[in-house]
Amino acid sequence: MTVTILGAGVAGLCTATELLRHGIAVQLVDPSGGPGPQGCSWWAGGMLAPFCEGESADPQIVAQGQEAADWWQQAGAEVTRAGSLVVTLQRDRQELDRFARRTSGHVRLDRDGLAGLDPVLADRHASALHFPTEAHLAPRQALSALRDGLTRQGVTVQPEAPAPGLTVDCRGLAARDLLPDLRGVRGEMAVLRAPGVTLPCPVRLLHPRHPLYIVPRGDGVFMLGATQIESAARGPATLRSVVELLSAAYALDPGFGEAEVLELGADARPAFPDNLPRVLEREGRIHVNGLFRHGFLMAPALARQAAALVLAKLKELPPCRSS
Ligand SMILES: Cc1cc2nc3c(=O)[nH]c(=O)nc-3n(C[C@H](O)[C@H](O)[C@H](O)COP(=O)(O)OP(=O)(O)OC[C@H]3O[C@@H](n4cnc5c(N)ncnc54)[C@H](O)[C@@H]3O)c2cc1C
Repeated sequence: MTVTILGAGVAGLCTATELLRHGIAVQLVDPSGGPGPQGCSWWAGGMLAPFCEGESADPQIVAQGQEAADWWQQAGAEVTRAGSLVVTLQRDRQELDRFARRTSGHVRLDRDGLAGLDPVLADRHASALHFPTEAHLAPRQALSALRDGLTRQGVTVQPEAPAPGLTVDCRGLAARDLLPDLRGVRGEMAVLRAPGVTLPCPVRLLHPRHPLYIVPRGDGVFMLGATQIESAARGPATLRSVVELLSAAYALDPGFGEAEVLELGADARPAFPDNLPRVLEREGRIHVNGLFRHGFLMAPALARQAAALVLAKLKELPPCRSS
């Protein structure tokens, strides 16, 4: 039997990849022809930072997220294993202590230690937390790598399902028609070119009102993210959010003052009430959804769970239907 996967965002592409690894035939359906700017995955920062996420996320995210970097590398994505840094402005230094108490997997750096990684950051920040085992990737390259891998195995994105069958629904926020407890959490981002800035790895700036992270993309290009607003609105980034993101970047490193703004973007992250992703079965359909701010971090683990569930369901079918 061929399994139909709806949605070619990070959830759908990871699930298709994982099902093929288990020898299960798949067809991939996305009316947009995805992956592309109509999906949330297009706008992500690509941080694979399970320990940092532990500051606000469930321990399940920290544990399962540690598998992500290896999975992505094996799937052909360019994964950079340079760790990540967390800093704060001097007046907010208690924020760094709070972050350190709530997370693991870090070492504390004083100004000299930070200067060893980035002298410019050390000019403005007296201490930092370094998470040496964390990684990052460029989401659009990673999505292309998965799509290309699927194409090589004969699976291309179709606009509609040629035949119904066992369905894995990875439509992100569009699945609210069947999952009414799914909500949108809006995130806005910017891409800048700042040739004078040289961050060694993703950096988070803790700030009571405008927390920010910056992910280096190479060649002087940086992704700035992200707002987190309780809204399913998917329209363009707002002036207020852009001002806050850019001001925070400038506070982190004044070198951003001369940056070119290459791109502004926004989308709504699909999230369940507890912000935890799930593989669940409802009315004969398997759903992979609720990836919230952990799409690239958690899609590999969810894809494995989905593959195990699909295998179990295929074994339940009478032999003539499973051939
Ligand atoms: C600004 C921002 C920054 C982020 N940064 C990070 C980060 O650093 N690290 C991280 O891990 N996560 C990050 N995220 C979260 C991550 O982007 C999401 O969790 C993830 O993209 C959700 O993926 P998805 O596949 O569920 O949904 P989507 O990417 O939205 O994919 C759903 C797909 O379903 C398709 N579809 C819709 N209707 C149908 C239909 N009827 N039939 C078939 N297909 C359909 C759509 O066209 C789309 O391609 C960020 C998100 C934002 C907005």
